[in-house]
Amino acid sequence: MGLQGKKTRELYQRATKVIPHGVNSNFRYWGQDDTLVIERGEGAYIWDADGRQSIDYRLAFGPIILGHGYPAVVKAVQRAIEKGTLFAWTTPLEIEVCEKISKICKVDKVRLTNSGSEATMHALRIARAYTGREKFIKFEGQYHGMLDYFMFSNASVPLSAVGSAHNPINVPMTSGIPKGIVEYVINLPYNDIDRLEQEVRAHWGDIAAIIVEPIMGNLGSIMPQAGFLEAIRSLCTEYGIVMIMDEVKTGFRIAPGGAQEFFGIQSDLVTYAKALGNGFPIAAIAGKEEVMMTISPGHMAHGGTYSGNVVGTAAASATLDILSSEPVYDTINKHGKLLMSGIGELLDDAGIPHVVMGVPAMFGFALGTDLQPRDLRSYHKSDINLYEHLAMKLIQRGVQPDADGREPWFLCYSLTEADVARTLQVFEESLAELKAEN
Ligand code: PMP
Repeated sequence: MGLQGKKTRELYQRATKVIPHGVNSNFRYWGQDDTLVIERGEGAYIWDADGRQSIDYRLAFGPIILGHGYPAVVKAVQRAIEKGTLFAWTTPLEIEVCEKISKICKVDKVRLTNSGSEATMHALRIARAYTGREKFIKFEGQYHGMLDYFMFSNASVPLSAVGSAHNPINVPMTSGIPKGIVEYVINLPYNDIDRLEQEVRAHWGDIAAIIVEPIMGNLGSIMPQAGFLEAIRSLCTEYGIVMIMDEVKTGFRIAPGGAQEFFGIQSDLVTYAKALGNGFPIAAIAGKEEVMMTISPGHMAHGGTYSGNVVGTAAASATLDILSSEPVYDTINKHGKLLMSGIGELLDDAGIPHVVMGVPAMFGFALGTDLQPRDLRSYHKSDINLYEHLAMKLIQRGVQPDADGREPWFLCYSLTEADVARTLQVFEESLAELKAEN
């Protein structure tokens, strides 16, 4: 028996008639029996088409920082769009949002766009135009969106294909990428400063950018080891390479100024999306004056019909005001810490080796090992099947993290201490069921 109730199943079957596999993003496809249809969300909860309620720790893959249908944000959008949704000119709202981002994130200039993929795509182009170089470095296990250039050696490729850590093989995550694209991509193991230095010193003249997720938000929230982000920063400065921090997951989530503030490192370019709009579509490319001003009408293109649209900017403006004025980060951190330590204790009691990773606002854990994973290869030493088996038990009981342990547990401001207690109770019950099976 899968996760679908009767009505969900009917709706899902209907969806498959017109939508390939019944989903508008492959990441939402959990198979014929477990792909859900969600009817509504409120605060920290979602309800599927059969009215089954869950505490939501997926939060739309991270954007929902305040809560689903957060009234102050919804009202701000409603008010704003009464006066129109999109113009072929700048609006005061866009100016306001870019001013707020500039101030909160200490970035000189900001351009708005609509999704993380659009932001990272433009950031790479800016870096290439700025440096006049064509290749770039990314790290194995990281995800930067749907652009062909980025879709190599993400966390979902088979480990058997990636080769040795010293000389990784670029493995495409999808069919449909032209053969030549791979020539521009250098994948390196995360957290390996020596290997990074070696690559940069040998090939810096070809390298436009180093793009990095400051926390591995698509691989269990593995943290950067001491000195890793600093090494990227100093190599980029030394060799005239553009450092791009991909803060699509960490931005406005792990601290007001995201990972730049959290780790005390200013990047040359930063990409934001998800938490910026609490679930409304908005993203941004931001960074240092000199690099951002590479964008130039007639010379270096950044564009988009919907960039800076009223729906997204009104949502971002309201979201940023709430993030700045209410105890969002304190609340999320308090609850996240309770969950991280509570889950750790329950796994201890159950005698399951584990490590808890990441930060309270987006944490992960790996099972079957007590060694902290530091990259794609070491993450695979953990028991990925056991994680999924346990997660499915939680989901069946109304606590919904992703079944895939590579996706972090996300927290929102609306989550209460009672929700945390309920989650830990369900976790304990699920572990008991697991034990009974063995
Ligand atoms: N960068 C990172 C770090 C991401 O996690 C994601 C999406 N999960 C993206 C880029 C792409 O964002 P989007 O799905 O909005 O295109």
